Parts: sequence; structure tokens; C-alpha cells
Amino acid sequence: LEKEQGQGIYRLPQDKVATDSLKRLELEYDLRKALEREEFELYYQPQYDIQNNRLIGMEALIRWQHPKQGMVSPGEFIPLAEETGLIVPIGDWVLRTACSQNKKWQDEGLPALTVSVNLSLRQFQKHNLIGDIVKTLKETGLHPRYLELEITESMAMDNIEQVIRKLNELKDLGVRISMDDFGTGYSSLQYLKKIPIHKLKIDQSFIRDITKDPDNAAIVSTILAMANHLRLEVVAEGVETTEDLQFLLNKECRHAQGYFFSRPLPKEQFKQLIH
Ligand code: C2E
Ligand code: MG
Ligand code: MG
Ligand code: MG
Repeated sequence: LEKEQGQGIYRLPQDKVATDSLKRLELEYDLRKALEREEFELYYQPQYDIQNNRLIGMEALIRWQHPKQGMVSPGEFIPLAEETGLIVPIGDWVLRTACSQNKKWQDEGLPALTVSVNLSLRQFQKHNLIGDIVKTLKETGLHPRYLELEITESMAMDNIEQVIRKLNELKDLGVRISMDDFGTGYSSLQYLKKIPIHKLKIDQSFIRDITKDPDNAAIVSTILAMANHLRLEVVAEGVETTEDLQFLLNKECRHAQGYFFSRPLPKEQFKQLIH
């Protein structure tokens, strides 16, 4: 600041820092209000069994309809929610809404599907995570087998013994667990062998250009072979083209999700899709 006053050289970056942090503060303030103002909404993106051409489930993805800024993407506000701790009540809302919506569709006679919910680090580390999930399942009436929780490699990295214990408790509840964005973290094979999960979701960065990028093709083939040996299911994320799909079919990948099938949809539209 002294230098700034003396020479004026740092004024521009300082001003930028100031506007950025002001924007951030505003966003944080709005985020605090967003739950009570009911500005969040869940979108649902279908997941398919591509070998049998069947819809098997959907991933719940949060959307924030900001009163002035319009739709704010989760990529922008989830990290902020995580830093401020707001992710805990938001995450509770997501879990409850996804479970109750899924149960509602089942009660309406639609085919039973699994709903996948993304867990944040703070949510996963919560002491009463198991209790919260039991309570939510009980209150919404959703059978545990129709709930899948998505964690990421980084979330499951520190204190491995404790993480394994927690995942086993979840597994015992009958809830399914998948490893999201797989391949972008630092899981060792040793660790993958030990950790009780059902499913790997291959990160979309590996699916992109899979037919043009031999490295990606090799990585995906290797993940599929390894998962098969470890008896883990696999979902390919970010499938956008017929070529991507054909590649995955040839490699005997079972499940896929991506714009090729559908973008995430608001609940009314998703219901029409199930019909
Ligand atoms: P994610 O869990 O890996 O979700 C997949 C993201 O990829 C979604 O972005 C989805 O819209 C997008 N996507 C799906 N298919 C395609 C495709 O074919 N091509 C491309 N380019 N993108 C595709 P979205 O909805 O913006 O979410 C971004 C991330 O924000 C999620 O990544 C997840 O980490 C986080 N997130 C979203 N909803 C929640 C939530 O309710 N709770 C928490 N904790 N995190 C969430
Ligand atoms: Mg996910
Ligand atoms: Mg993710
Ligand atoms: Mg992902």
C-alpha cells in the first residue's frame, strides 16, 4: 500500500483485488440467503446402461437461480459454499430434495431409479453423516438401494482407515458409493483395492476426444480393465458423441452419462424423459 501511494504502480492490481473480493463478499452474502429464499433447484441428468439400452439412474446437480445474476453454475458457488461452511446446510437440502423427489417418482408409478448425490468434503467429514443419511432416508421413505453417494479421490485420501470405516457404515446401510472424477486424483491401486466403493466414474476429461486422442483411449481402456478385475462398476462421464459411445460399447463399458444422451434437466422435463 505504501508503494502504491508512493508510485502508483500497484494501483491497478490492487483495485482488481478489491473488486474481486467485493464481488466475492456479495456472492457470499447472497449465498447465505439463497436457501431460505428457495433459489436452489436440482437438475437431473440421466445415466444409461449402454449395453442394454436402459435408463438406470440420474445424477442430481444443483442450480442456483440468482435474482440478479441469473443461473450461477455450481463450479462457481460450490467452492465458496465449501470455504464458508454453507455447504453443510446446502448439502442437507440437496440430499433431502433428491431423495424425496426420487421417492415421489416411484410413488407415481415410474420405474425405480437410483439417484446420485454429490457429497462435499465437509459433508463427508461430518461426524453425524451416517445419522443424517439414515434420518433423511427414513423421513423421505426412499429405500437405501436407490441412493448413491458420489465422493472424490481427494476427499477419501486423508486418514484412510477412518474413511474406510465410514464408507463401510454407508455400505452397510445399503447405500451405493461411487468415486467421481476418477483419474484426476491420486488414488493408488493399493488404496483402490482397500476402499469399499461400488463404482468408478471416469472423469470426462478422459472421455473427451477418446477416438482421436490415443492417450485418452489407452487410459480409459486401462481403467475399464482394472475396474473389471476389481469388480467395480464403471460410468463414463461426459459422453458427447456417437463415436464416444461406440468406443465405450466396444470396450464393454457398461454405464454412461453425458450430453449425447441428455443435458441435466429440471425435474418436470426429467419426468417426461422417464415416461
Ligand atoms: P460432477 O459431479 O462431475 O458433475 C458432472 C458435471 O459435468 C455437471 O456439471 C454436468 O452438467 C456436466 N456434464 C455432464 N455431461 C456432460 C457432457 O457430456 N459434456 C460436458 N462438457 N459436461 C457434462 P455441473 O452441473 O456444472 O456441476 C459441476 C460440478 O459441481 C459437479 O461435477 C460437482 O462436482 C459439483 N456439484 C454439482 N451439484 C452439486 C451438489 O449438489 N453438491 C455438491 N457438493 N457438488 C455439486
Ligand atoms: Mg458427480
Ligand atoms: Mg465432481
Ligand atoms: Mg464428475
